Amino acid sequence: MRYLIAANWKMNKTVAESVEYIEKFKPMVEDIHQVDIMIAPSFTALSSVSLELNNTKIKLGAQNMYHVDRGAFTGEISPIMLKELNVEYVILGHSERRHIFGEKDELINKKVISALEYGIRPIVCVGETLEERELGITLNVVERQIKMAFAGVYPDIGLCDIAYEPVWAIGTGKNATKEQAQEVHHFIRTLINELSKGNDETTRILYGGSVNENNAKDLISQKNVDGFLVGTASLDPEKFYKIITHS
Ligand code: PEP
Repeated sequence: MRYLIAANWKMNKTVAESVEYIEKFKPMVEDIHQVDIMIAPSFTALSSVSLELNNTKIKLGAQNMYHVDRGAFTGEISPIMLKELNVEYVILGHSERRHIFGEKDELINKKVISALEYGIRPIVCVGETLEERELGITLNVVERQIKMAFAGVYPDIGLCDIAYEPVWAIGTGKNATKEQAQEVHHFIRTLINELSKGNDETTRILYGGSVNENNAKDLISQKNVDGFLVGTASLDPEKFYKIITHS
C-alpha cells in the first residue's frame, strides 16, 4: 500500500504565502516517489496552489465541501467548484468542523456520498475527545463515526481514506503513543474490512494529532498506520518534508 502524507493547513497562509511555500517545497520532494503527498490549503489559495502543482506529483486537497452542486448555500463550496480546480482529495468530518461548526455524522455522510459521486477522494476524520477516552468508550465512538460516515457506501470504502485523530491530540503537542494509535488503527482496519466485505485494501488509515518530525518514525512503524494527516508541522515546508522522509 502507498502511504499518504497529507497537510491540513487549516485557516493559515494567504495566497502569496501559499505560493511561496509551494515554490520552496516542490523541488524538495521532486525525487520522492514512494509515498503520496497531499496539501490542503485554504479555499482562497486553492486556485493558485492548483496552478503551482500542475505537472507535479503533489495532490491537491480541500479542507471541506458542501454536498450540493449549487444553489442558495451562502458561504459554502460545492464539489463542482473543487473539481474545476483539480482537487483530488477532500478532508471531511475534521474534529474542528464537528466541534466548532457543529457538523453531525449525518451531514458528514452526505458529504462522503457526494464526494464519491464527483470522484473526489474523501479523507474522513474520526476520533474521540479526552472525556470519551477517559470513559473508556474510544472504540465505540470511532465505530459509530465510521458506520455513520460510510452509511450506504460500505462497498466503496476502498475509494476513501480515514484519518484517526484523537481530539485531545490535535494541535496540543501531545500525540497518541504508537501503541494507542495502533490499537485504534487495528480496530478501524478490522471494522472497515467487515463493512466493505474486503474492499478496503486501498483505504489508508492515517494518524493525525501533533505529528512532527520527531515522532513520525515511531508512529509510522506501526502495522496499521498508513500515513499521516498533519496540521501544525505541515505549515513549515522543512518540517513537513522531514515527516515525509521519515515515513
Ligand atoms: C489536524 O488538523 O488534522 C491535525 C492533526 O493538527 P495538528 O497536527 O496540529 O495536531
